[in-house]
Amino acid sequence: MKSSVKRRKRYRLKSGVTRFLIYAAFFLGLFIYGYIGISNAIKNINYRETYEYKLTNLGYSMDDTRKLIAILKPERLDEILKEEQYNEIYHNILQQKYFIDKNFEDYVTYKVSHSDVSYEDTIAIVNVHANNGWYNTSFESNIDDGYLVLVNKFYHLNKDYKRVDLEKANLAYAYADNQAASIVLENFEQMRDDVFNELNVKLMINSSYRSYENQEAIYNDYKNISLKYADQYAARPGYSEHQTGLSLDITSWEHPGQKAFTESAEYEWLKNNAYKYGFILRYPEGKENITGYNTESWHFRYVGNEVAKQIYNEGITFDEYYAYYIEQ
Ligand SMILES: [Zn+2]
Repeated sequence: MKSSVKRRKRYRLKSGVTRFLIYAAFFLGLFIYGYIGISNAIKNINYRETYEYKLTNLGYSMDDTRKLIAILKPERLDEILKEEQYNEIYHNILQQKYFIDKNFEDYVTYKVSHSDVSYEDTIAIVNVHANNGWYNTSFESNIDDGYLVLVNKFYHLNKDYKRVDLEKANLAYAYADNQAASIVLENFEQMRDDVFNELNVKLMINSSYRSYENQEAIYNDYKNISLKYADQYAARPGYSEHQTGLSLDITSWEHPGQKAFTESAEYEWLKNNAYKYGFILRYPEGKENITGYNTESWHFRYVGNEVAKQIYNEGITFDEYYAYYIEQ
């Protein structure tokens, strides 16, 4: 008897502890469940406050959204949200190959006021600083860029700049008084030999290095007619690529006239092969609003084989190349 009471007591005691543990586990479980639920709800409310949530909610892709957040200040993001609808201009701009972060607002401004200009051109025009008008922005060319020095309607050389490695061009393939950087002449000679072997035509150098004073004289001649005329047909002194000693105006013995040369087989050959010798056609057709020059079938620029090939393959101008790969 005595022993069975003890056993029952022990049993009751044990089951009491068990019950307590079960209740405790139950409440703990409930507590954890509730806690997770509440914290998730808080997280949810917090996420709804983020730009990521708000922008994707307006229809921007996660990719666009992340770019916008990375590029823009909160005040600007707030403005975009205030538009209360998806704006495809932002999306199209963000997806362009040559997009540069710091130019975002300028792209938008330019595209909005030039709806007829393609996105591709909008990016290029802004990248090269042409959105503010020719000659309205001015930087000094960086001579340390070597064969990649940029001279255009925004980048200029100073009055005294002259390469030290200028050489006189051989009179067999150049009209009198032509000088250019020695590497330019070497590559031109090689190219000339190959053109002669393939097409039986002799390339000639019409014009090459021009000093600041030379260019000034040319420009002033045009300016006597009108400023507009001068800016259309000549570079301002300091702004001519010919001062770099890296540019050649090329023609052929057989087709010296501009029109005849433009229609010649040698011009076609140069367009497709000059890059193998480090030259690019500097002012191509269809790129007038980026280079600021009417197309010139004769003006070639030496930039070295590697960059010439890249520019040829990507179908961009040197101005665009410089803006995207060097300047930024
Ligand atoms: Zn030229």
